[in-house]
Amino acid sequence: MTPLLELSGVNAAYGRIQALSDVSLTVEQGEIVTLIGANGAGKTTTMRVVSGVRPLSGGSITFDGDDISTLRADLRVVRGISQAPEGRGIFPGMTVLENLDMGAYSRRDRKNLPAEMDAVFELFPRLAERRTQVGGTLSGGEQQMLAIGRALMAKPRLLLLDEPSMGLAPQFIAQIFKIISEINRQQGVTVLLVEQNAQQALSRAHRAYVMETGRITRAGTGAELLADPAIKDAYLGVA
Ligand code: ATP
Repeated sequence: MTPLLELSGVNAAYGRIQALSDVSLTVEQGEIVTLIGANGAGKTTTMRVVSGVRPLSGGSITFDGDDISTLRADLRVVRGISQAPEGRGIFPGMTVLENLDMGAYSRRDRKNLPAEMDAVFELFPRLAERRTQVGGTLSGGEQQMLAIGRALMAKPRLLLLDEPSMGLAPQFIAQIFKIISEINRQQGVTVLLVEQNAQQALSRAHRAYVMETGRITRAGTGAELLADPAIKDAYLGVA
């Protein structure tokens, strides 16, 4: 079966800084795949080349069998790749409802939008209570929920989540990961997830890749990597 997403030998650079070197990975339809690695390993850059906001300097990216290596970012959204960016990136002056509506801007089929907004509110009841509140006054956890909800309004086939647990209180972290699993299982959305919280990410992911200084150095199922002493030592905070 053709993978939903495939990166083959991808290189990317910021000026003279080589951020990605020969990165190859696949994400199959229906999976949650996570990228873990230290600060500066290249995880966010990998997400950026997939969403199309950074160009490749080598290699290729295919989505559902089509080469999208040079496709514009907005056209990737139309194809079904939607990102909830690191640092959240919601519209602070717009209400929750307006933010969610913006998430659907790329869609031609707008007739099911009210039902889909209800589905987002079912996943995130807190957002339903705050639907007329402006985004900038939401708490950090609520803004993260709104960013994910907004990405879902594009009706993605592949949802890119960059550090969804960043800056969240522990009770929110567990909740966000539970919701990611629900989005994957109930809505059939494939997920590529970048996380510092390796423990949670590996326990929710079907498969995972480890990145070090711009390269993929390990791959395996979430369970395999969780059980690996070297991974535990480096990323899970226990020897
Ligand atoms: P973190 O977990 O800290 O977010 P990361 O694994 O997501 O790290 P990237 O943000 O992809 O790592 O960064 C990979 C490399 O590219 C780093 O060396 C970083 O300093 C560099 N880099 C990232 N963004 C830029 C930029 N806008 N300009 C120059 N260098 C950059």
